[in-house]
Amino acid sequence: MTTAGSVGKPAGKAAPVRKTAVEPPAGESPTALVRRARRINRELAEVYPYAHPELDFENSFQLLVATVLSAQTTDLRVNQTTPALFAKYPTPEDLAAANPEEVEEILRPCGFFRAKTRSVIGLSKALAEDFGGEVPGRLEDLVKLPGVGRKTAFVVLGNAFGRPGITVDTHFQRLVRRWQWTAETDPDKIEAAVGALFPKSDWTDLSHHVIWHGRRICHARKPACGACPIAPLCPAYGEGETDPEKAKKLLKYEKGGFPGQRLKPPQSYLDAGGRPAPPLGAA
Ligand code: SF4
Repeated sequence: MTTAGSVGKPAGKAAPVRKTAVEPPAGESPTALVRRARRINRELAEVYPYAHPELDFENSFQLLVATVLSAQTTDLRVNQTTPALFAKYPTPEDLAAANPEEVEEILRPCGFFRAKTRSVIGLSKALAEDFGGEVPGRLEDLVKLPGVGRKTAFVVLGNAFGRPGITVDTHFQRLVRRWQWTAETDPDKIEAAVGALFPKSDWTDLSHHVIWHGRRICHARKPACGACPIAPLCPAYGEGETDPEKAKKLLKYEKGGFPGQRLKPPQSYLDAGGRPAPPLGAA
């Protein structure tokens, strides 16, 4: 059985216990900020060596559709819904020609299913008509597709095309603010500010590390500071629960001993003791 905080961590390496919060890095030089940011990313890479996109997909079309569906819901719910969708409509041409009411029925568990149906049928039509049924590998083409913004485009570019991209989702915004990497609030400006701290080749993995940490440990309302492996580096330590035992109970997914979000996670996740998510309707 997976124990809290054990997946991918060396045996016996307990989360640090800190009594006081570190001082905010007032007056930190740009060079010191770069060093600190990269150190946090290196630590997170040790905590989540198996980090990966948490949407199940087998090709760029599936990743694009799944990312659009993930707005306002969990990746888990999308992963539980897309097997039926892609079994019935495996290609952009199939989905472009679909009966919207039948697609709505399949997408109902994802929420906002009428709008999402319009988006995925619309983008499938655009792919079929303008791109020969292929997902384009350029940002400027992707953002022209219905329902596709920069965040979705970067997820697809980074994970289906191997082109570096920073995914500024709600977790990313919250965590980089807590770490004082940037004071920007606009996602595009956050993307530029954080991108300047790292080499491009780090961008995609950095996004995974930050988002994974936000989902598992550094939650919006109750960050588990007392069980956080990067607490010694964090200026916001103490914003959440600092008691180690209470903090451990706040951990989610594999860090809390629970299944992950993907029904078909990569082997590296399973090898590290992670467990697949259950299909829709399973107990
Ligand atoms: S959980 Fe607490 S210590 Fe860890 S990164 Fe978040 S705010 Fe900082």
